[in-house]
Amino acid sequence: MSGRYQLLIASNNPHKIEEVQHILDELLHGAVQILSPASLDLHVEVEETGMTLEENAYLKAIAFHRASGLPAIADDTGLEVEALNGAPGIHTARYAGEDQDDRKNRQKLLKELSAVAPEKRNARFRTMICFVDSLRIFFAEGICPGKIAEQERGTGGFGYDPIFIPEGHHHTFAELPAAIKNRISHRRRALEAFAQKFAAYYDIPLATQHR
Ligand code: IMP
Repeated sequence: MSGRYQLLIASNNPHKIEEVQHILDELLHGAVQILSPASLDLHVEVEETGMTLEENAYLKAIAFHRASGLPAIADDTGLEVEALNGAPGIHTARYAGEDQDDRKNRQKLLKELSAVAPEKRNARFRTMICFVDSLRIFFAEGICPGKIAEQERGTGGFGYDPIFIPEGHHHTFAELPAAIKNRISHRRRALEAFAQKFAAYYDIPLATQHR
């Protein structure tokens, strides 16, 4: 039963591949095997020209499905800040410039919010996953609500973790243990939604106890 369904993931990031495989193993009892493009010697360049996270996830998933003939998944994540009308959104990775520098991105966001009071610093991480095979296309969304801190705190994680305080907590993602982040993160929630839909479409038993 292990790895009955092979899914190509539109990423060669080993941490992402490992995380997705681990969570889907837990949720779908090992029914899915995640394949990286590199393992198939597949080289596909996708320009993320979409206006939304959904469009960008779709552009990546369809490109990898067409290039391989295999079912494919892609994800796209954005940080949406209420006081900035949803920015940086699709520009999250390159908020401070094309060179994609996490520290500069965080500093720019803190600067943009310097005059915004703590109670008005609501934000959320949103992940969209798109699945494409020869029969169907579907999306799964995961949201992690929280607030932007007033300064950087903590050394764990990556990206915006030192300035993001998830709802129900007083510490940033960079201060919290990885196990807590991995239980409540936007990616985890999107994968839970994905696993539910995938299990329903392909008639796979879904683990009832997620957490
Ligand atoms: P991607 O779509 O996974 O490449 O994510 C886009 C950008 O969002 C990344 O470059 C990170 O800066 C940021 N990001 C995504 N997930 C997280 C997270 O869990 N913590 C902090 N930043 C994140």
